[in-house]
Amino acid sequence: MRGKQMVKESKVYQHGTLGMLVPGLFEGTMTVAELLKHGDWGIGTASGLDGEMIVLDHTPYLAQSSGEVRILNPDEKVPFATVHFEDIKNSFKAEDLTQKELESKILSDYPYKNVFFAVKITGKFSSVKTRVVEKQTRPYKTLLEVANEQAVFDANDLSGTVIGYFAPEMFQGMAAAGFHLHFLADDRSIGGHLLDFKVAEATVSLQPFTTIEQHMPLDNQEFLDKDLNISDMHEQIQKSEG
Ligand SMILES: [Zn+2]
Repeated sequence: MRGKQMVKESKVYQHGTLGMLVPGLFEGTMTVAELLKHGDWGIGTASGLDGEMIVLDHTPYLAQSSGEVRILNPDEKVPFATVHFEDIKNSFKAEDLTQKELESKILSDYPYKNVFFAVKITGKFSSVKTRVVEKQTRPYKTLLEVANEQAVFDANDLSGTVIGYFAPEMFQGMAAAGFHLHFLADDRSIGGHLLDFKVAEATVSLQPFTTIEQHMPLDNQEFLDKDLNISDMHEQIQKSEG
């Protein structure tokens, strides 16, 4: 391999797609036990869109719209989740950075703008704002209708972990293009899908993936029957996940 740099192989695994949630495919189609065979860090949601999942070091936490954070049972199911086994490639210290500043720094300092990669941030945050979707019952609404009813939580001066992914624009639909980050406080007092945050002092770790494994719920008749040809899907994802 003289003169050529070896690329470290690293894989991200996803069950379901964000695009499947858009028209309301909220029913869980893979058990948490099965999901965790494919990765022990990641994000997702629970069956019925019952909150925001944060998988930290093999523990599948679920932040619920009541504000409660609980651990999912192995036999509970998820409609959409993304996980990976940790194999960090880059780490740096960040201080006093807003979410926007940090995201710009990552994309300007590392050659990952065309790469699907994981982001982990551990340390102290001066502010955190999360949203948590509310558990839905049938007949299911659309993702956008649900996102308009989300619970929002704020906290200042706390320690915690951010976990999530960056997806280039070309993956919009399979995932949410751009950064999709979830948060859990060390004391579990607040968690959810990150709307905004400011880092006080933290370690940022990045893991670029050479491979994406996209798993689909072929045993789910509702998925097979659903019309996923939604003309404004990108717009609906942007509005729901932004
Ligand atoms: Zn999310």
